[in-house]
Amino acid sequence: MLANTPLPSNSRDRSDHAPAIVWFRDDLRVADNPALEYAAGQNRPVIPLFIFETNLPEHAQPGGAQKWILHHALKSLDANLKTLGTRLILAEGDALQILQGIVTRQGARSVYWNRRYTQHGIKTDTNIKSTLAGDGLEARSFQATLLHEPTKLLTAAGGPFKVYSPFWRAFERQPAPRPVLPKPIQITGIDEISSPEIDDFALLPSKPDWASGLRETWDATESGAQDCLGDFITNGLHGYAKGRDIPAKKNVSRLSPYLRYGLVSPYQLWHAAVEADAPENDKLKFCKELVWREFSYHLLYHFPSLGWQNFNSSFDDFPWLKDSQDLTAWQKGKTGYPLVDAGMRELWHTGYMHNRVRMVTASFLVKHLMVDWRVGERWFWDTLVDADPASNTASWQWVAGSGADAAPYFRIFNPIIQGKKFDPDGTYIRKWVPELSGLPDKYLHEPWLAPENILREAEIQMGISYPFPIVDHKAARDRALDAYKNLKKEYAI
Ligand SMILES: Cc1cc2nc3c(=O)[nH]c(=O)nc-3n(C[C@H](O)[C@H](O)[C@H](O)COP(=O)(O)OP(=O)(O)OC[C@H]3O[C@@H](n4cnc5c(N)ncnc54)[C@H](O)[C@@H]3O)c2cc1C
Repeated sequence: MLANTPLPSNSRDRSDHAPAIVWFRDDLRVADNPALEYAAGQNRPVIPLFIFETNLPEHAQPGGAQKWILHHALKSLDANLKTLGTRLILAEGDALQILQGIVTRQGARSVYWNRRYTQHGIKTDTNIKSTLAGDGLEARSFQATLLHEPTKLLTAAGGPFKVYSPFWRAFERQPAPRPVLPKPIQITGIDEISSPEIDDFALLPSKPDWASGLRETWDATESGAQDCLGDFITNGLHGYAKGRDIPAKKNVSRLSPYLRYGLVSPYQLWHAAVEADAPENDKLKFCKELVWREFSYHLLYHFPSLGWQNFNSSFDDFPWLKDSQDLTAWQKGKTGYPLVDAGMRELWHTGYMHNRVRMVTASFLVKHLMVDWRVGERWFWDTLVDADPASNTASWQWVAGSGADAAPYFRIFNPIIQGKKFDPDGTYIRKWVPELSGLPDKYLHEPWLAPENILREAEIQMGISYPFPIVDHKAARDRALDAYKNLKKEYAI
């Protein structure tokens, strides 16, 4: 196609100074960005490009909180590129057509990008690579988003891993992740190229503007990511192995929102942790958690339908319930179980939820309320600023028991015991469910057991200022176990 088409007279020549396009996707940073670094080293003008792809499948359309962080990540990237001598170009439409259009108009001869791993991403990129190469262009992709390619780690039989522990052992046998790349010193841009503004894409919510909690919580910039990483290394990593389970503690990194669109890279996290002055067991635990992210991508790469199909198809006949009142109570943090409600409100306010509480809230939806995990996955997809195509789906299937290496369905988190164990003094619950804050610790996890005088002193009217539990824990547990036993009989799982 293009190879045989003479370049228009107003386009640039095909000399060594022909520009290179760097196509940004989920790697919106200037440091540790192999595609950008390579382009910058070519001694030619660079066109940094972000495309709003209009042909994304429905399940891959970004949710509300993701759009919010995408807006800020794009602003951050544009500002950083300007300090290097260029700026971000935005476009909307079919990626191949847009790339071909820029190639034609600007005489670009090369297109570089960092690889992505969703089914749609791989299909699109493979097609673009072969079409551009067929047109005589250089189309080159780099590894930036994962520490090791999903195709590199395979079982002895040559297949994909389905269990985390052997995956981790195989990961350990790989060479150490490559060092972090510096940001380019300078990039030559192109003046005569027009672009819409980031604001034109209306990624921020306006009517209503529900993002005040997100604004309070996140500095969604590349430097904000570095500050968050630095703060974690100094104040959180020491004690991570134990502290990571306590939602009120500051031991988790809260870096997942920055990883979502690549404001920070996993290489930066890995090396910062490995080189930190912190106990070895904390460093190891953190690296192992980071490798859960790799494992999720490994699963998604090898089982692309992970996001919408039960990994274990025996669950296809699970008798999920459709009670919209229960679902709304869960979404709004009004289930009557304080730890569940605290988590759901943290999510709504900040776009983030602590991992321990994600497990408890997800388990509550799937097991206590028997709502299909896909319904919960969609809610998280819309509300999480770190909503990730691999980690979200793999984790939901893990909780539901339908996934790879999943928590067995019969293991049902007790939200009261989880609260007592992981939020013993109620700091987390009191923060997110302030109407319970006056209750003594003894009743905080089971307010319905508090005597009248204690409730009065704490200014709580059960059923009015705080709901009674929407399901009885024991009855809900028995109902879920019965459903599972029937499934087990049928499928011998
Ligand atoms: C139901 C459910 C849904 C989830 N959805 C997402 C999601 O959409 N996006 C997402 O990034 N994570 C998801 N997770 C995994 C995990 O909860 C988050 O990665 C973690 O809470 C992020 O917080 P952090 O950065 O403070 O974690 P840290 O403890 O500081 O861990 C550092 C990094 O390691 C990775 N990591 C840690 N734990 C996990 C894990 N269990 N699985 C995969 N990666 C992990 C993350 O990239 C994280 O940023 C989900 C977990 C559950 C149970």
